[in-house]
Amino acid sequence: MRNALMPVLVAVAMFMLGVFILNTQLWYSARADSLAGARYAIKNMNVILDEAHRATLSAMDIAQRGCGLEEQYRLGTEAALQPHLRTIMILKQDTVQCSSLPGNRVLLVNVTALSNAPLLLVPADSTVNGLPVLIYQTNFADSRIVVSISDRHIRDALNIPLKDISYVLKVGNNVIGVSGGVSALGNTQQFSGRAVATNYPYSIEYNIPPMISLPRLINKGGGIVLFLLLTSCVAGCILYKYLNKNTLPDEALRRAIARNEIVPFYQPVVNGKEGTLRGVEVLARWKVADGGYISPAVFIPVAEKTGMIVPLTQNLMAQVVKNMNSIASKLPEGFHVGINFSASHITSPTFVEECLSYKRSFSRQDLNLVIEVTEREPLDVDEHLVNTLNVLHNNGFTIALDDFGTGYSGLSYLQDLHIDYIKIDQSFVARVNAHEDSTRILDSVLDLARKLSISIVAEGVETKEQLDYLNRNNITFLQGYYFFKPVPLPELVKILLSKPKVKVVVE
Ligand code: C2E
Ligand code: CA
Ligand code: CA
Repeated sequence: MRNALMPVLVAVAMFMLGVFILNTQLWYSARADSLAGARYAIKNMNVILDEAHRATLSAMDIAQRGCGLEEQYRLGTEAALQPHLRTIMILKQDTVQCSSLPGNRVLLVNVTALSNAPLLLVPADSTVNGLPVLIYQTNFADSRIVVSISDRHIRDALNIPLKDISYVLKVGNNVIGVSGGVSALGNTQQFSGRAVATNYPYSIEYNIPPMISLPRLINKGGGIVLFLLLTSCVAGCILYKYLNKNTLPDEALRRAIARNEIVPFYQPVVNGKEGTLRGVEVLARWKVADGGYISPAVFIPVAEKTGMIVPLTQNLMAQVVKNMNSIASKLPEGFHVGINFSASHITSPTFVEECLSYKRSFSRQDLNLVIEVTEREPLDVDEHLVNTLNVLHNNGFTIALDDFGTGYSGLSYLQDLHIDYIKIDQSFVARVNAHEDSTRILDSVLDLARKLSISIVAEGVETKEQLDYLNRNNITFLQGYYFFKPVPLPELVKILLSKPKVKVVVE
């Protein structure tokens, strides 16, 4: 779990960042669209107002000629021919001189009360037919030309097909939208977006789309959001795998130790001369869920690399004490119990104290506790190490040099350290077969061992040839599949109870 938080955070951060960028982009384009819509509405409105302007110019011409039947007719024709205009009126000294409507009728309730602003939005209650109008008016000599535009055309001009955006026309302080009448813009009702027309005094108002909008994100970027979700999850998974590549075994080891899943197996060491059991070597096994075991060759290097080897060995020692105490009465006198120790553990400051307390915990104090020190890893033989092993030796421990012959440091070890016996590495024993030349290397390894006058244990004895060879060479203590494989405690009890006699053949 330790490394799960980071990938989750990274995945969430990636997703959020992606969504943020996408949302910002969608917002920008929605803003640009809304402004383009407003400009389009201005274009529409300008077309209408240009008509009004043209009609005004014609009306000016007509105004100079009075308001006879001919002028009325021309004014009516002008209004009828311009598609967006409703009426054209010519006012002189605030009275209607001429109108495009038959009989010089006027659609405004009180035309003289109109302000003379060039553009005016007149609400429905100020018109005779109850429909709001836009007034375009121009002062000309002592006349005023008033052109009215139907609200329907204004609504059409404002009707830009953009989802979620509605536009209103603002003239002075009055507004008219796609629906509803003319209303005065209150202080509270303000629009966030505006496009101001340049040719005529009005603006198009609208609300800028909100920066964050879930519907917009889903409608316009749903696919990308899904893609982001997927890639964030994949990235999180990859990161999780990467982070846990190295730490998972560490984590799993810690858990396995805490749950006593790393258990001791015992491989008997036999006395080839007497055919009796001399003792056992403790070999760690990792019990897994399916009932199988993981080899120490897999997890011991990981434990050494991660520093978990110390708690692992301590846990194993505690289990060995418990196991041996439970079968104390069945153990022969001076029975050897060997445990493998890694160099980093041996050199730790508490090692001696741990071993002494380990020794005290056995109910049988006559047991021969063996500390196997491997030669496979380079050992830093300094004063501290020499001291440590000497103190342990003086306290009744037996020191064995494991995997003899494989080390890099040569014989300098053996001069400095107090070694009780050496274990010839199984790779040398494995070479021995019926072939005459096959014993050459082992011959010289044994020769070397003998010259050092240190007791020898041969590991990895698998065949009759190997056994015969070792017997011929007076190697008394033997360990290997030929005799016994490493076994769990109940099997060891069975072996102890059967009091095995190992057949020794000396030629
Ligand atoms: P090792 O200390 O040299 O242990 C002997 C290894 O040879 C064991 O392998 C044993 O099962 C295997 N073996 C015994 N007889 C035969 C045989 O006749 N033929 C063959 N082919 N193999 C035989 P295992 O149990 O897999 O252990 C491997 C190594 O892991 C050990 O080598 C030891 O270096 C290390 N190890 C095991 N348990 C521990 C532990 O508790 N602590 C430490 N530090 N290392 C351990
Ligand atoms: Ca060993
Ligand atoms: Ca060995």
